[in-house]
Amino acid sequence: MFKYIKNILSQKCPRCYQGKMFTHKWYQLKYLGKMVQKCEVCGQRTELETGFYYGTGYVSYALSVAVSVTTFVASWVLFDVGFSNNNIYWWLGINTVLLILLQPVFMRLSRVLWLSWFFHEDDAMHHVNCKA
Ligand SMILES: [Zn+2]
Repeated sequence: MFKYIKNILSQKCPRCYQGKMFTHKWYQLKYLGKMVQKCEVCGQRTELETGFYYGTGYVSYALSVAVSVTTFVASWVLFDVGFSNNNIYWWLGINTVLLILLQPVFMRLSRVLWLSWFFHEDDAMHHVNCKA
């Protein structure tokens, strides 16, 4: 489980845990969604079918909600942010900025997560065999 989370965060191939899934660094925004066609280590394809990543919007949204909940609880505990005072607006503002800044990261993480849920073991084997 720890290895899985570490793998997702490092944006590596969900099959072999070694190959890179993206061709550029996440902060090179121009190439944000540019993925390798297949893993250079094990041959796992990154796009299993056309439009494979349409569903990642939901994953990205779920990540946004998760981060919001986390920052809210953290600021509630640390800074007494709550509905009874105006601190909630500080949290709202800061959290919104944070979420916008994190969108590129969410997008990539959601793609790696998505692929890790739907890739098939035999799919990659097929490609390895083709190369040989
Ligand atoms: Zn791989």
